[in-house]
Amino acid sequence: MPLLEVKLKRLQDLRKRRPQFAEIYDFHRDLCTFLQQHPCQWLGVNVDPGQWELRRQAGFPLLTGDALQIMIEPAGKFIASLAGQLITLGQQGKDELQRIVQAQNAGNLPVEKLLIACLEKDRAPLEACAAELEIPSALLEYVCSTSLGYGLQSWLETHGRPAYSDWKEGYCPICGGTPAMGELVGEEGKKLLHCSICASEWGVIRLMCTYCGNDETDSLEYFTAEGEAGYRVDICRKCSGYLKVVDSRELGEGLPMDVEDLNTLHLDLMAQKEGFVKGKRTQNA
Ligand SMILES: [Zn+2]
Ligand SMILES: [Zn+2]
Repeated sequence: MPLLEVKLKRLQDLRKRRPQFAEIYDFHRDLCTFLQQHPCQWLGVNVDPGQWELRRQAGFPLLTGDALQIMIEPAGKFIASLAGQLITLGQQGKDELQRIVQAQNAGNLPVEKLLIACLEKDRAPLEACAAELEIPSALLEYVCSTSLGYGLQSWLETHGRPAYSDWKEGYCPICGGTPAMGELVGEEGKKLLHCSICASEWGVIRLMCTYCGNDETDSLEYFTAEGEAGYRVDICRKCSGYLKVVDSRELGEGLPMDVEDLNTLHLDLMAQKEGFVKGKRTQNA
C-alpha cells in the first residue's frame, strides 16, 4: 500500500480513538489528501552505484545536492501550491505563507537552492531567502523540506529503495535526515530508525545512543508515559539526546512513523521538560 494511504488509514484510526485531538489528525489528513492529488513529477535522483559504495563505506549518505535532478518550474509550482494549501488548512502564518506563493509567482523563489539546502542541512540559503521575504526561516524550511521529503518518497516508492544493510549510523543512509522515530521489531526487539524526511528505515545497535554513539549501559535509559503502552523514550545521559520509540511487538508493524511522531508530541514535551533534546546528526556529508 502506498505510504500516503497507510498514513490516511492510521490518522482515521487515531481520530476515532482520541477525538480530543481531531484537529491535529484532520490537518494531516487534509495534507495527505493534497499530496495524493499532486503526484510528484519534478524530482529525480541520479545515483552512481560505484560512488555510493564509497560514500557508504565512509559513513556518508547516498544523496548530495548534485544527485538531485530538480525540474525547477514544476517544483516551484508545487511549493507554492503546498503553501497555498497550508493557508486553506488554517495553518498559522497566513501572510507569511502568502509571501512564499507571491515570490514563486514572481519568479523570485530560488527553488533549487532551497531544496538542496534542506537536503544538505545548510541553513544559510534558507535564512537568506526567509530574510528577503521577511518570514521566519523555520516556516520556509517546513514548506521546502515537506516538498523535498514528498519528492524523495515518491521517487523511492517508484524506483525502489537502494540496499543499505550494514549502515550503522544514526542518520539516514539515503538522505542524511535525522530519525523521526525508532522502532523495536521482531521477537528480539531489533531496533530500526525511520527517516524524518524520506521515510527510509535502517537497523541500528539497540543499546547505543543514536546521536553520540555512547554504548555505556549505565548512561542509557528510557521512560514511558502512563497509559501509553507501546511507546517509550530512549534517553542518553552523555549527550542529553532523546529518541521516541514505537514497540511494534505491542502496536503492530508497518505503522507510518511520522504519524506516530505527531501522535506522541506529549512525549516530546516530557523529555524536553527534563532537559533532553531531540538529537541532531553529528556528521555532515
Ligand atoms: Zn532519509
Ligand atoms: Zn548520546
